[in-house]
Amino acid sequence: MKNLTERDKKYIWHPLTQHKLNSDMLGIVKAKGAILYDENGGEYIDGIASWYTSMYGHCNEYILEKVQHQMAVLDQVVFSGFTHEPAIRLSEELINILPSNQQKIFFSDNGSTATEVGIKMALQYHYNRGNKRKVLLAFEEGFHGDTFGAMSVSGLSVYNGPFEDYFIKVERILTPTKENVGDILLQLTERLSQNDIAGFIYEPLVQGAAAMKMHDAEGLNMILELLNKHQVLLIADEVMTGFGKTGKNFASDHLPVKPDIICLSKALTAGLMPMGVTSCTQQVYDAFYSTDIAKGLFHGHTYTANPLACVAALAGIELLQSEQIQKDIRRVIKSHQEFGLKIKGHPKVAEIRQCGIIFALDLNIKMERYGRLRDRLFNFFMTHGVFLRPLGNTIYILAPYTITASQLKRVYDIIELALDSEV
Ligand SMILES: *Cc1c(COP(=O)(O)O)cnc(C)c1O
Repeated sequence: MKNLTERDKKYIWHPLTQHKLNSDMLGIVKAKGAILYDENGGEYIDGIASWYTSMYGHCNEYILEKVQHQMAVLDQVVFSGFTHEPAIRLSEELINILPSNQQKIFFSDNGSTATEVGIKMALQYHYNRGNKRKVLLAFEEGFHGDTFGAMSVSGLSVYNGPFEDYFIKVERILTPTKENVGDILLQLTERLSQNDIAGFIYEPLVQGAAAMKMHDAEGLNMILELLNKHQVLLIADEVMTGFGKTGKNFASDHLPVKPDIICLSKALTAGLMPMGVTSCTQQVYDAFYSTDIAKGLFHGHTYTANPLACVAALAGIELLQSEQIQKDIRRVIKSHQEFGLKIKGHPKVAEIRQCGIIFALDLNIKMERYGRLRDRLFNFFMTHGVFLRPLGNTIYILAPYTITASQLKRVYDIIELALDSEV
C-alpha cells in the first residue's frame, strides 16, 4: 500500500494550492493536545492551532465525550420548522458571553458563510427599511473568506483576478494609527454624506490573513462611532479573534462601541465540527420581522445548527470560561511577552506585535508574499518538529491555550534558531 502522501495525489484537489508547484501533502494520522502526528512517526507542535480552531487542544476529552453522547441521541435534523436543545442552549450561552447588545443568533456552517450572512443582513436591513444602500466599507488587507460576498470585501485579492468583475461594490479605508486616524475620519465624514454605505465589515484589532497586522483600538473605536451615527451597520468579523484569543472573549470587548452584527467560526466549535454563527442586535432583526414574507432573510444551509457542532461549541464555551483555561490564557500571554522582550533587539527582527495570545514578528527582510523564504522557514520549522505557517516575512504563533510551558519554549527556541541561522 502506498503512503498517504502518494495516494493523495490521485484524486484530491487541495485548497489554496497550485499542485504543479506543490504536490506533496503530509499525511497526518493523529492529533492530541498541541501535537500533530504524521504517518512517518514525525511529531509537530501545532503552533497555529490548526488555523486557530483547536484552542483547547486537539481531541480534547471533555469535548469528545459531549459530542459522542450527542451523536447517539440526535445527529442531524432540518432547522427550518424544527428546533433542538443543543441549538437553543448554544444561543443562550452565546448571548451570555457576546457583547451585551447582541440578541439573535443565525447559524451557518463556516467562517465565509458567517460573513456572507452578515453582509446580506446589512444590505437587506437598509433595503427592507426602504432606503437601499449599495456600498460596503472594509479595511485594506482585510480577509473575510472565499465565497463571493466575502471575497468582495476581502482586500487581500492577489488571486481574485478571474472574479473581480462580479464583486459587490466595496470601498476601502486604511486601518487606523494614532497618526492617520484624523485623516480617515475627515475622509469618511465627507463620504458618508451620500448615505449609500450599508455596512462596514472589519476584523477588530487583528487582521489574521494580513499577517497578524494589529491596529489601534482607540482609532477603530472612533471610526465605529462615526459610522454608527450614520446608520452604517458595523459587522465585526471575529471568525479569527473570537473566543479568548485577544485576552478577552471577543476583540469587540476591547471597544466601547458595540457592533450591530458579529461573525463567528473557527474556535467556535473548538476544532471539532464546522460551524458558523452570525449574531445581531434586536434592531437588525426587527428590520426583517414583518407580515411581508419577502422581508425575511432567505438564506439557509443544509447543516445549519447541526446538533453535534452545537454540542462541541457548548463544551468549548464551557472550557473557555473555566478557571483553568483563563489561567492558561494569562500564562501564554505572559510567556509571549517575555519572549518578545528577549528577541526584540535581534538584528533580524524588524517588529514585534502581540495582542492577547497572538504573537507576531516581522523579519528584517523585504520579500514578496508566499515567496521562497516563507517556504524555507516553514520547512525549517517542520524539520524541527514545529508547525508554523509564516505569512510573507511574518512569523506568528497562535497556539492552543493548553500548550505546555515546555512545548511553548520549544516553539520559541526554534524561532530563535531560525533567526540565528541562514534559513
Ligand atoms: C478564516 C477566516 C474567515 C473564513 O472562514 P472559513 O471557515 O475559512 O470560510 C473569515 N474571516 C476571518 C477573519 C477568518 O480568519
